[in-house]
Amino acid sequence: MNFADSEVVASILKGEYTLTNDINEANLILVNTCSIRDKAEQRIHKRLKELEALKKRNRHLQVGLLGCMAERMKEELFQTEPVLDFIAGPDAYRSLPQLISDSSHGTTSFNVLLSKEETYEDIMPVRYDANGVSAFVSIMRGCNNFCSYCVVPYTRGRERSRSPKTILGEIEDLLKSNYKEVTLLGQNVNSYLWKEGGEEVTFAKLMTMVAETSPELRVRFATSHPKDLSDELIETIAKHDNICKTIHLPVQSGSDEMLRKMHRVYDRAGYLERVKKIRETIPDCSITTDIIVGFCGETLENHQDTLSIMREVGYDYAYMFKYSEREGTLASKQMKDDIPDEEKTRRLEEVIALQGELSLESNKRDIGKTFKVLIEGTSKRSDDHLFGRNSQNKVVIFPKGNHKVGEYVDVEVKECTAATLIAIRN
Ligand code: SAH
Ligand code: SF4
Repeated sequence: MNFADSEVVASILKGEYTLTNDINEANLILVNTCSIRDKAEQRIHKRLKELEALKKRNRHLQVGLLGCMAERMKEELFQTEPVLDFIAGPDAYRSLPQLISDSSHGTTSFNVLLSKEETYEDIMPVRYDANGVSAFVSIMRGCNNFCSYCVVPYTRGRERSRSPKTILGEIEDLLKSNYKEVTLLGQNVNSYLWKEGGEEVTFAKLMTMVAETSPELRVRFATSHPKDLSDELIETIAKHDNICKTIHLPVQSGSDEMLRKMHRVYDRAGYLERVKKIRETIPDCSITTDIIVGFCGETLENHQDTLSIMREVGYDYAYMFKYSEREGTLASKQMKDDIPDEEKTRRLEEVIALQGELSLESNKRDIGKTFKVLIEGTSKRSDDHLFGRNSQNKVVIFPKGNHKVGEYVDVEVKECTAATLIAIRN
């Protein structure tokens, strides 16, 4: 999400600034931030301290902080981080030229207003760090779900969808520049909705429109909230060859008690019913997830429920986190963050170890299968090998031959690790 936002910011400033890869050369440094866990914020504080030395050497240097931390901490940041000249919240990027100019003579400036409408829909992002093959396309902003642990609805504001016309326009441009894959992004893409002239475009409809732009284009999306992953969407994924067969379906916990306290709105049985529907409709679909361990009051039994749902679903991959209390959220106001950090770490290690086993099992099942892979680059370990992803979003490594980045190639899996499939060309 932040990657896509940084591309929007680069576009807003492209008339006035050029990008550099050498930080010592920069006259403007923008630090885009995430507040989802305390650890992410601590990394930013460390980074800002490092920038102080640069600023002493270059008196023209301006430093700005963007994104969720700006929204969460507002002007208070100027007190703790004197290196900052300006700050801008996630809906204030159009005002960056003004903020930069206002703070160019040693005074600070900020804009942290949230908007109900801003989607930056007319701004064509500058793809400055992309591989030229796959790109992110933001289709909505904000979130209305208010999961009790989560800061996103406070830092990124209310949910709003971008018009299909500008989304398709951006994708047409990517196709013209030879991009082969787009990932449609939103906090809860299932609730994407655009209404115009009595017509409604749902997420499933949008996916169909995007998939039909070109059979050469692969389409992915993130993230689906299990509470409204519709049959229509699952069937749309099954129907189109170029919609990738992978669904990221964050479960967070396998315990009904925790899910209720988290305000996730589904229960374990409801989640498993959605998984069943996916398995029946798209047999070759990979399913990945997010898991939080050590949420308020989580008992050992609740934790076992998480381990057991992981086994039951057999996730192909998971992002796993220790619960991190965030100021202002419902959990921080009404629940006690009472699992000691060492115990959270122990539970996290347990889920990581289990996921390692599940990922390896999942990859082993692919040995002997042939996949169409979109080539993204040269393998880090060997110049003679390329890497890419299959439709299920697994990384595949195979010998280079005459193939090039951006091409599709059929490969047969011969070996694997928990993280990678190792293949030969067919
Ligand atoms: N909108 C997406 C996820 C956005 S945040 C969704 O609902 O699925 C990505 C992940 O960060 C979440 O799925 C959750 O697992 C994790 N997360 C969010 N807040 C957290 C917190 N306070 N502590 C630990 N992990 C958190
Ligand atoms: Fe946060 Fe829940 Fe919204 Fe995801 S759906 S961004 S976890 S509030």
